[in-house]
Amino acid sequence: MGKVIAIANQKGGVGKTTTAMNLAASLAVLEYKTLVIDADPQANTTSGLGFDPKEIEISIYECMVNENDINEIIISTEIDHLDLVPSHIDLVGAEVEMVNLEDREEKMRGVIQEIRDRYDFIIIDCSPSLGLITINALTAANSVVIPVQCEYFALEGLGKLLNTIKIIQTRLNPELEIEGILLTMYDVRLRLSNQVVEEVRMHFKDMTFDTIIPRNVKLSESPSFGMPVVAFDATGKGAVAYLNLANEIATKNGLAKEN
Ligand code: ADP
Ligand code: MG
Repeated sequence: MGKVIAIANQKGGVGKTTTAMNLAASLAVLEYKTLVIDADPQANTTSGLGFDPKEIEISIYECMVNENDINEIIISTEIDHLDLVPSHIDLVGAEVEMVNLEDREEKMRGVIQEIRDRYDFIIIDCSPSLGLITINALTAANSVVIPVQCEYFALEGLGKLLNTIKIIQTRLNPELEIEGILLTMYDVRLRLSNQVVEEVRMHFKDMTFDTIIPRNVKLSESPSFGMPVVAFDATGKGAVAYLNLANEIATKNGLAKEN
């Protein structure tokens, strides 16, 4: 049974998509069978992996609401062991349509259940909101990775997210765990970056990943080439950091591979 990990933070621009696509690709490089689900109408994971969202007609959302078959929309990517459930822009407005459905928070869990045993890891890229699709992702997930940008107001909104996670644990998904808080866009030269690292580690010691993702220009360039950084700049700092994160998560879950 694959481990389902949601990448969530209702704050935009903190590195969710960068983390979803590069963590998924790194797990695949380490030969874990991995699926990344793009659950954001901005479809950045879809385009970042080289697919045109305008050509996508069916996403996870149609599987949740119209009972389309998820098996028919999984695409294999250029990276061995990495598959994608793409997104498209029409997901906007989706949440309004969902409001009247029965068990509307549990639709994604049902859809993922159908394909879960084919993967070691299923990574869900969430949108910058705590709306119904994100609630669905957190209800479907075993755990959540929370990217936090090493910037001003890094911790802003984190309380609300942690509170939402608590509510989901109580009402919908008692098994949901926090896989970890991930510090992103760290710049060793900036005092501010170091202050954020200290602050986050002070408040959330046991929850923070050892791996820190540096600010790295290849990480921001690779999506425009339709590639995760492990393919675009395999030995660079960004790729190494995400491979370390993949190893850290695999080890934490008792799935580390022998070297
Ligand atoms: P989110 O999905 O949370 O909105 P993104 O992953 O799209 O955030 O990141 C926001 C912007 O920052 C993007 O332009 C992305 O390329 C860039 N970015 C993310 N992580 C890094 C990093 N470690 N180094 C440099 N740029 C990054
Ligand atoms: Mg995003």
